[in-house]
Amino acid sequence: MPEMNPFMIAQKQLDVAAERLGLDQATHNLLRWPQRELRVTLPVTMDDGRVHIFHAYRVQYNTARGPAKGGLRWHPDETIDTVRALSAWMTWKTAVVDIPLGGGKGGITCNPKGMSEAEKQRLARAYIRAVAPILSISKDVPAPDVYTTPQIMAWMMDEYETIVGHHHPGVITGKPIPLGGSEGRGDATARGGVYVTREAAKALNIDLQGKTMAIQGFGNAGQYAALLGAEILGLKLVAASDSKGGIYNAKGLDPKKVVDHKLRTGSLERFAEAEKITNEELLELDVTVLFPSALENVITAENANRIKCKISCELANGPSTPEADEILHQNNVFVLPDFLANAGGVTVSYFEQVQNAYNFYWPLEEVHERLNEKMSRAFHGVYQMYLKEKVDMRQAAYLVSVARVAEACKLRGWV
Ligand code: NAD
Repeated sequence: MPEMNPFMIAQKQLDVAAERLGLDQATHNLLRWPQRELRVTLPVTMDDGRVHIFHAYRVQYNTARGPAKGGLRWHPDETIDTVRALSAWMTWKTAVVDIPLGGGKGGITCNPKGMSEAEKQRLARAYIRAVAPILSISKDVPAPDVYTTPQIMAWMMDEYETIVGHHHPGVITGKPIPLGGSEGRGDATARGGVYVTREAAKALNIDLQGKTMAIQGFGNAGQYAALLGAEILGLKLVAASDSKGGIYNAKGLDPKKVVDHKLRTGSLERFAEAEKITNEELLELDVTVLFPSALENVITAENANRIKCKISCELANGPSTPEADEILHQNNVFVLPDFLANAGGVTVSYFEQVQNAYNFYWPLEEVHERLNEKMSRAFHGVYQMYLKEKVDMRQAAYLVSVARVAEACKLRGWV
């Protein structure tokens, strides 16, 4: 069988849920495809004076429950299919945490690691000029994702406000705090994942104190998972990796030191108190909690049988393929599926939009409290479905969210 691209995987996951929910054909077909896709070609002058042509996308998957919402990824392997898949998962994510938003996603095929700050700023502004007609607080609101940062969000907001001629901070989230960002947005994705891991461990009767965790991918999501997994759950970090490989120490790694090293040197290489480990070996470690926090399709039919963690908290989008899911379920690996586990980011993005709309900002404690409430409620909604339907947690999450989106489509009279 040819390898499935992420969008084919997203469609397959939906198909199973649609059948189980008994969705009518029209609703099912509607939910299999994005409502709107925009492909743009961006000429950007590079520092050496040459004009480079970038290909970029914005996909609005479904807006029945509210304006499209979703991050913007800058990656050399970005394709329309990854953006479509990610926009579908955003639709299920906003529904599973029950916030009044739809799902969207954007991407630029580029290698930001090889670009200067000035080139990144020109690319960010070019992207907004091209997609501005389909953005606004009531149409579609981007946010950061892989290799995009609060600084990039700031340039993008500025470009949008220049086009429309007035302040409109809610058009993009994940902004720096002085420009209308929310307290607590920086660690929100990992914090949300840590809250659902805590609830899962309680439900499964696992005491996490002093138990082990391994983290694949050491960017925004992975670094905060290391810090908060230790601080909130009492987990011991034994391994971490990034695109260049990983580090391992069975006695434990100090998460703060590892994060400092990564921020200072740009990689995990040469971290003193650890031995080397590959990304593949890290996934197969016998740990209590695994946080896949890099990219999609890392747990497949090939390695799923060797995954030994008790809980896999998917901070990355789409880390497991459907074939792998079946194997993990049979092997009693409890998967906290991506669009539930990493929904903390979009939830605090939503809080950011609410604060922008009121022009009134909440203290950090209030953000944490509201996030905790949203994530815990979402976990238990999905867990109840899991117990009732006797499916895996991903299917349970699909059943909850697809039913909500389908209901909104029906109430609007679309199907
Ligand atoms: P990031 O750019 O901050 O970090 C990505 C990390 O992954 C980097 O450390 C990079 O070195 C590593 N990486 C890249 N390729 C790798 C590979 N082949 N093997 C191992 N590591 C690799 O990105 P992020 O924001 O932390 O996002 C990571 C994942 O979390 C993505 O799937 C993203 O969609 C998802 N996510 C992020 C957020 C958010 O708010 N940041 C929200 C929801 C989901």
